[in-house]
Amino acid sequence: MNRLMHWTKKLRRKLSPPPLVLLYHRIAEPEIDPFGLAVSPKNFRTQLDVLRTHADVLPFAELIARCKRGELPARAVALTFDDGYVDNLGNAKSILEAAGIPALIYVATGFLGAQHEFWWDALETLLLYPGTFPTKLDLNVNEMRHTWSLENAAIYSESDFEKFRGWRASEPPPTRRHALFLEIYALLRPQPHALQQAALAQIREQLSAHRAPKDERRCVSESELHELAASNHIAIGVHTVTHRWLSAAGREEQMHELRESKSALEKLLARPIRDFSYPYGNYTAETPEIAAALCFQTAVTTEERALQNGEDFFQIPRVVCGDWDADAFAQKLSEWRAG
Ligand SMILES: [Zn+2]
Repeated sequence: MNRLMHWTKKLRRKLSPPPLVLLYHRIAEPEIDPFGLAVSPKNFRTQLDVLRTHADVLPFAELIARCKRGELPARAVALTFDDGYVDNLGNAKSILEAAGIPALIYVATGFLGAQHEFWWDALETLLLYPGTFPTKLDLNVNEMRHTWSLENAAIYSESDFEKFRGWRASEPPPTRRHALFLEIYALLRPQPHALQQAALAQIREQLSAHRAPKDERRCVSESELHELAASNHIAIGVHTVTHRWLSAAGREEQMHELRESKSALEKLLARPIRDFSYPYGNYTAETPEIAAALCFQTAVTTEERALQNGEDFFQIPRVVCGDWDADAFAQKLSEWRAG
């Protein structure tokens, strides 16, 4: 019986594929991309072609409204972007418009117009580009002193850079330098914004030379956000003020992050903002309730699966899109739908 039910479910999913919310970050071709955030413009165009053939792409709000009515629209897909990278304007917008495909972009309002990179990109610039440290690296974070004896991780050469450019953070670190990157990333991720920036400044001081922040990796400015929001194909949501790791924040701080980012965007765009995205997909049991109390209508996670009946609209799952060509993307689409 279980076997029969299993196959019936599989067949039903094949004939009537469940809706999916897709997650993108950047449409760009960076030199290195340890977190796999970028899809090239060429592959993005190709992926939209695949979607136009194999899916019904709906605005996020419409997909959710139909799910709320209990319709669970078959073949439906909605696109979302997290973080508000400037290439969403420079590359994604025109490709979306040309394909007639809508997307929802979540921005962390504290970064609008910031001249610095997001902290994880700054860390990547400092540690995964060629550069030389002393043999010891010290960091004071939150009144805790951390010391790394670097030995052969002190030097990261041009040839190391070339050799390891394709490395992903999900893979084992190929050198001590990559291990150091992962350790400092894990140390800084739950810290408040000011402590992350202070730690980056300490690393900069200890490096013999370092590269300037990359302008193409910053968040959009306020006027660039207006340009995005003016498109008929683009809706805007929020992603907190400081891209906070919410499970390290108390209730008051979480309230502040959600409320202030919502009101900043509402003021800036003169429209109600109803959609929220948990930074890093991280939150606590009380965050969905805080989002609801602040009059958000949806919140999206990074739980990778299709939507189902009875979905909690404050914990909407999303699937992460990689830099795939047409065949690989079509394959992923059918895997996500098969569940
Ligand atoms: Zn994010």
